[in-house]
Amino acid sequence: MDIRSDVMAAIGNTPLIRLNGASNLTGCEILGKAEFLNPGQSVKDRAALYIIRDAIESGALRPGGTIVEGTAGNTGIGLALLANAMGFKTVIVIPETQSQEKKDMLRLAGATLVEVPAVPYRNPNNYVKVSQRLAEQLAKTEANGAIWANQFDNVANRQAHVETTAEEIWAQTDGKVDGFICAVGTGGTLAGTAKGLRAHNPNIKIGLADPEGAALYHYYKDGELKSEGSSISEGIGQGRITANLEGLIVDHPYCISDKTALPYVFDLLENEGLCLGGSSAINIAGAVELAKTLGPGHVIVTILCDYGTRYQSKLYNPSFLASKGLPVPDWMQRESNIKA
Ligand code: PMP
Repeated sequence: MDIRSDVMAAIGNTPLIRLNGASNLTGCEILGKAEFLNPGQSVKDRAALYIIRDAIESGALRPGGTIVEGTAGNTGIGLALLANAMGFKTVIVIPETQSQEKKDMLRLAGATLVEVPAVPYRNPNNYVKVSQRLAEQLAKTEANGAIWANQFDNVANRQAHVETTAEEIWAQTDGKVDGFICAVGTGGTLAGTAKGLRAHNPNIKIGLADPEGAALYHYYKDGELKSEGSSISEGIGQGRITANLEGLIVDHPYCISDKTALPYVFDLLENEGLCLGGSSAINIAGAVELAKTLGPGHVIVTILCDYGTRYQSKLYNPSFLASKGLPVPDWMQRESNIKA
């Protein structure tokens, strides 16, 4: 018998899938970790579980308590589902620019949703800061207390990837992994997986796939937090060194444009049956760059962060793509596929 005792036990142990187009193009084995197969359909379930467990263990989160978080959506979805399974409540603060599908899922999962205008981190009304203030207020008024999950600076997030994502990749590749690369939202996935893999083999090369509009490419290249451009990807694109990123050494930083990245996920859907979100596109394009840097014959792992239906109204909508001046694949323009 192989039975998971509850939804918490169904998180992780996701398969590694060979990305055939990207592998054949580069002569490397480019492998995607299928994080969209987690119960909340994203990589963020891992962080949500570790953050909740840590808060329970420290005594901060009491039975019936409320978990408050600022999120682009995926962490909130993970928290809300786990909260239902463990008897907590969730209040989720989300920038209003994030996809309707993620907001709908949050409401479906029972979270109280607070939508705020998308403003930079330095603005006191940024979603992260609003969530912190809300948590402080609710800690005083809620009968069973409230905590702020604080995924950006709570290193329980990174620890999830040290203990699970990295260990799984090491075992799944029989220790043959040469490089790991992904984008950064909080930095938990990149820094945690890098730390865990380097503990097995310090020579593994770590890459950063930074979308346009983020500041980390310049930081890891020449020490300056500087950004230009923008991206339609959601959940990634960081402008500061979060606590989760502290101590991370990046061997190969790349700045990836949407124009370069999106064709990879369009091709994967059309030719390989994988339906992925925009951050996966940045990751795969980054993996191709890392493959070019390392040369043929290497094993490179990246993260397939979430499922594409979460962005059907944007990334997979020809009118949205056209409005952003982005390439629309031929198959999406077939009449039966065009959205009214
Ligand atoms: N992709 C998506 C779709 C996400 O929601 C997130 C998290 N915000 C990431 C990638 C980045 O993961 P991390 O927070 O671990 O850097």
